[in-house]
Amino acid sequence: MEGFEIRISNSKKGKGLFATKQYNEGDIILEEDPLVSCQFAWNAAYRYLACDHCMRPLETPEQNVIRLSGKPDILLPHSNCFEDDLLNITSCNQCGILYCSEECKVNSLAIYHRTLCYIQNDAHHPINLLIETWKQIHYPPETANIMLLVRILAYIQQHSDPASAAATIKQFCHRTVNEDAELVHKVLGDEFSGQLNTLREMTANVINGEYIQEFLTPEGFCSLMALVGTNSQGIGTSPLSLWVTSVSQLTMSDDERQQLDMFIDKLYQYVEEESGQFLNTEGSGLFQLQSACNHSCAPNAESSFPYGNHRIQLKALKPIMPGQEIYISYLDDCTLQRSRHSRQKELAENYLFMCWCERCSSQSSEPDCTSEEDNSEEEIDADD
Ligand SMILES: [Zn+2]
Ligand SMILES: [Zn+2]
Ligand SMILES: [Zn+2]
Repeated sequence: MEGFEIRISNSKKGKGLFATKQYNEGDIILEEDPLVSCQFAWNAAYRYLACDHCMRPLETPEQNVIRLSGKPDILLPHSNCFEDDLLNITSCNQCGILYCSEECKVNSLAIYHRTLCYIQNDAHHPINLLIETWKQIHYPPETANIMLLVRILAYIQQHSDPASAAATIKQFCHRTVNEDAELVHKVLGDEFSGQLNTLREMTANVINGEYIQEFLTPEGFCSLMALVGTNSQGIGTSPLSLWVTSVSQLTMSDDERQQLDMFIDKLYQYVEEESGQFLNTEGSGLFQLQSACNHSCAPNAESSFPYGNHRIQLKALKPIMPGQEIYISYLDDCTLQRSRHSRQKELAENYLFMCWCERCSSQSSEPDCTSEEDNSEEEIDADD
């Protein structure tokens, strides 16, 4: 039996995820694959090799770090176990795009790829034109990808019951027209928000049909773009970080540990010198259950990608009692450490809500702004 349910939260937040049984710290609450997911356009352009369906890396951590650092002699200790993942690589018979396994190839074709299979080196193909336009609008770090939006449309189009698939997607859209417009402004950036119509026309050149018409109108497209901007969850499957996680779990002496940590710091430094900041987030996806989780600045759960692909796992960070709401943090670890004012500013800008979580409520007497804080990345909450 599942130990959670999605229901209306009594506050203004709309739906929320609630525990129906007790969870202890470390317990797995749920695991799910996304409805659709997609690698970021710039990651693909930087040749981060990943399965086109599940984003599992298609290179070993060692190959990854050698390519990104430009240093061919780097040897990564404890990295043999990653080679097995590369044994089942296969490709689409038509377009040659790579998958980690036969299973991913079959699933991708069944869910969206039948509609979106095309010869990739044709620069004038509508998909390539769309991706190029998107990349010019959205320089890294990317937080949303136009191809995730296209895959959502293909998912509806290819579904055996397209009307119900469209309804599933519309569950994620629950904002007003004005709020959607504000979010899209944020996703595209001020100087590019006028290009929404261009993107819409280019998307309609890629995919079109009876059941997706409503998403290709100016309002529908804006709403879908806002959905991708706020509901899609970043997916971290980069090989180097998978390796770092796996070695951090090995038992070793303090001395060895210190050596290894220094080595890891150096690797990140090499990568940064050659390829710019290391991209830990490979792409993003749309998760049905996980996206029902509301935000708290003192979350009781946390999501991760323990299988090195797009399958998400939600784990309890502290005991959760039946009837309690399950919260994750929408803020990155660094922002989460900052003052109430900084956190609220970030949430208002990116998600358009005022946070009244336990922690924010208890800090509501704090002054609204400490002026240094907005100028300094380093400043952290003194009371935490
Ligand atoms: Zn895969
Ligand atoms: Zn194909
Ligand atoms: Zn809060």
